[in-house]
Amino acid sequence: MGKVVDVCGIIGYIGDRPACEVIVKGLKRLEYRGYDSAGIVTEEGGRLYIKKGAGRIDELAEKLGFLEMPGKRGIGHTRWATHGVPNDSNAHPQTDCSGEIALVHNGIIENFAELRGELLGKGHTFKSDTDTETIAHLIEEELKSSSNFEEALRKALKRLKGSFALGIIYTGEPDRLYFVRNESPLVLGIGDGETFAASDIPAFLEYTNRVVFLDDGEYAVITMDSYVVKKLDTGEVVEKSVQEITWTLEMAEKAGYPHFMLKEIHEQPRAIKDAIHGNREIIRGIAEEIANYDRIIFVAMGTSYHAALVGKYLFQRLAKKVPIVEEASEFRYEFEDLIDDRTLVIAITQSGETADTLAAMKLAKKKGAKVLAVVNVVGSMATRIADLTLYTHAGPEIGVAATKTYTTQLTVLTMLAIELARIIGTASEEHLRRLEEELIRTPELVELALKHDGALRELAEALMDSRDFFYIGRGVGFPTALEGALKLKEISYIHAEGLSAGELKHGPLALIEDGVPVVAIAPSGKTFEKMVSNIEEAKARRAFVIALGDSKKLEKVADVFIQMPEVDELLTPIPYVVPLQLLAYHLAVLRGNDPDKPRNLAKSVTVE
Ligand code: GLU
Repeated sequence: MGKVVDVCGIIGYIGDRPACEVIVKGLKRLEYRGYDSAGIVTEEGGRLYIKKGAGRIDELAEKLGFLEMPGKRGIGHTRWATHGVPNDSNAHPQTDCSGEIALVHNGIIENFAELRGELLGKGHTFKSDTDTETIAHLIEEELKSSSNFEEALRKALKRLKGSFALGIIYTGEPDRLYFVRNESPLVLGIGDGETFAASDIPAFLEYTNRVVFLDDGEYAVITMDSYVVKKLDTGEVVEKSVQEITWTLEMAEKAGYPHFMLKEIHEQPRAIKDAIHGNREIIRGIAEEIANYDRIIFVAMGTSYHAALVGKYLFQRLAKKVPIVEEASEFRYEFEDLIDDRTLVIAITQSGETADTLAAMKLAKKKGAKVLAVVNVVGSMATRIADLTLYTHAGPEIGVAATKTYTTQLTVLTMLAIELARIIGTASEEHLRRLEEELIRTPELVELALKHDGALRELAEALMDSRDFFYIGRGVGFPTALEGALKLKEISYIHAEGLSAGELKHGPLALIEDGVPVVAIAPSGKTFEKMVSNIEEAKARRAFVIALGDSKKLEKVADVFIQMPEVDELLTPIPYVVPLQLLAYHLAVLRGNDPDKPRNLAKSVTVE
């Protein structure tokens, strides 16, 4: 179904049934995606009815009476906050000043701050902290100088930068609903005398399996017995074909992928884009606040710890800072006397609820340190403890093994290191610009890395009975080796070690014997030649070497060469981890494990 993204959910309905019933069911079908708030708008007799709040669907449905809402057209939303904490006023729908336009949104409006400023200047009043509300006021503003609503909508949407799927209802046009897609998914469901729209098929699959996929830059006008799809920029009608879906509900929830983990691996290009869009405007301010700190300690656990290690290399090479990376679980026993108000603690946690990391952050705060959190879940505990927060904007991650939250952590840390270097003046502007341009290209590089999927599956078949794996890397490639080994352990239950390649001959080489798989992270860069020697050391002990790199030279020394795109060495951790995620995934599946729910592990470790 083309690009899949998983920012939360939209469901719209227009037909002959009570809209609230279809919408509540649809919202429940979208529940697996994870969300923090929900809301519904319906319309009857030219009046909008809105109910919304933070919390779970069932609770809200009961507390607010979702099922008592009148009307036969309406839109529902589950929110995964990106701008503004999850609370009642930030829940969608959002409305304009007149209360005649209500809309829901999935995605991020990158230039919302500027637009909001402009609209405030024109006298609009805002009721929420969301980027979304800006859109409602912008349409209201454009309506003043447009001949109809659709024209105003098009004019307003042209001004938005970022990703958005929208559902819009307007009291002035009682027979229709509008749905817009730009880099966030949206699909129409075509029924008999009723029409649906949703971010994902399961939301309406129970009523119809006839669907029309919108493409980026398109919008749909739906009535109960018609739909028309048009281009956003010109208003020109686009011919669309109706497709029949034969998926079961379960397949549809995973967008046709057999597991959430695989779906999330494939979502990385989109997630990285969102991480860039979502932080571009604020990264400078955050970097300014931390530029003067010299004692910098990263604290994290698990995959986030590996992101912290990459962060350390980035800070060293670009900003000439020498941070310490400490496991959050050890931090408070080792650092208690070493933290003061000249210390900066950067805590990285996907969920924002990791107990060890929270404990480290609390101690750091108590000792007067400045605390910056890098977090995926908006409004989570870590963001409440921290002085400053950078969100990774990866969307909810359901597979227990972290994938897209890792590559987005790396994205955010890269942006931060670049900005720090710029402020401190430790790297040339030309170098930093080039890095920024390459970072913007990383989603494409990840796409290229994803193309190895078939080859990695075959490789997994050949290696599925191996008992030990070694992952080796140097410099900034070392954390990638650790992360590759961790992914494998977590879901395939095969013993794996990530090693600094230079360490090989100081001990671990004794474990290498005939046919033992050694995965070498070998991008061109400072230590490439040394890495080739390390591969040869392993080969001499008859290891089976799988090399990831951009140099053809590897083809000769390794048993299997995974060709990676060329990119600045500092950015290699982002695309290079992707084949390692896929390899672990295929090995897990081939060995009969459920990669989404590895034994003994939980998604967010809320105990110490
Ligand atoms: N950026 C919007 C917000 O924070 C939409 C988030 C979503 O996709 O649910 O409200």
